[in-house]
Amino acid sequence: MTTNTMHAAVVETLGQPLALRELPIPAVGPGQILVKTEACGVCHTDLHAAHGDWPVKPSVPFIPGHEGIGLVVALGEGVTAVKLGDRVGVPWLFSACGHCEHCLAAWETVCGEAQFGGYTRNGGFAEYILADPNYVARIPAGLSAADAAPIICAGVTCYKGIKESGAKPGQWIAISGVGGLGHLAIQYALAMGLRVCAIDVDDGKLAHASRLGAELVFNASRGDPVGDLRLATGGGAHGVLITAPSLSAFHQGVAMTRKRGTCVLVGLPPGEFPTPLFDVVANCITIRGSFVGTRQDMAEALAFAAAGKVKADYELQPLSSINNVFDRLQSGRVPSRVVIDFGAA
Ligand code: NAD
Ligand code: ZN
Ligand code: ZN
Repeated sequence: MTTNTMHAAVVETLGQPLALRELPIPAVGPGQILVKTEACGVCHTDLHAAHGDWPVKPSVPFIPGHEGIGLVVALGEGVTAVKLGDRVGVPWLFSACGHCEHCLAAWETVCGEAQFGGYTRNGGFAEYILADPNYVARIPAGLSAADAAPIICAGVTCYKGIKESGAKPGQWIAISGVGGLGHLAIQYALAMGLRVCAIDVDDGKLAHASRLGAELVFNASRGDPVGDLRLATGGGAHGVLITAPSLSAFHQGVAMTRKRGTCVLVGLPPGEFPTPLFDVVANCITIRGSFVGTRQDMAEALAFAAAGKVKADYELQPLSSINNVFDRLQSGRVPSRVVIDFGAA
């Protein structure tokens, strides 16, 4: 490889395996920075992106990956927000306009002009990433790149989702899906003083949930998980966080919600789910979507990791194994998270 090129995994056709390519290292424009990637987590969202699962499709070719962590190696004209050598993360919320009603209310995640890393902008499955210095995550000293990677999407999404559930210390939170997001959600919830029930379809993931401190675990594919959870929690969970990329988990999660509780939807399988209107209305249940987290949520989520209260479980893999990682993630064979290690060959 010459010094002007980089290895990258590229979606060239939606629904097809990624192509491993050698591409020119992008040049920084005014206001941009160039990040040399050290590590990038693989999120289930990268599968949805590569498959074109959602109503607004990404345009090909693009480089997925929105858990990229690296060092700032070049500054475009006018950049003062970060310095050369800073360790930053290039997240899903790649940039926002900064002046619409949502940005002004510090809800930049729903800005209509937001750009998304690894979706509308090239992401972290590459040795270099162009980024907007105003929206990169600041990685605290002492947190390694690989430890930080799963926090900047999976971690912040769960942390924000738990806050949005309104569940208070001592109350129950039910976490449906114990994969990349869910295994971190359990740890955030415990650190926030909640009691945790975990739900998955895989007994291995449920055993992991118990080891992480979930008091109750339920296999969603057997018996009567809703009835069992409602009985064990004395009427359902105060907060429910659905991370599972499966529509059946959404219907089930609403039924697990306690009267006046909140069911937070974060999983993004394509499609719709039926909502039992009478139960939702008569029990005053809130159903709420939650999308990653703001820059302030990001700083808070990273602080939990830097303090050692939350630690991602991950397996390191080289970029060249990306299609195998995608296959395993699709079929539920990744125990927690895979992080692509750019130090590896
Ligand atoms: P993952 O594949 O690592 O984990 C999914 C887990 O759900 C697995 O453990 C799987 O066994 C479990 N599962 C599957 N079917 C289930 C069911 N019916 N009931 C309970 N558990 C079930 O995926 P991930 O990286 O954690 O991402 C999960 C979802 O969250 C994806 O749809 C992703 O796009 C979405 N996501 C949303 C946001 C957001 O901002 N809202 C952010 C990141 C990811
Ligand atoms: Zn993600
Ligand atoms: Zn905006």
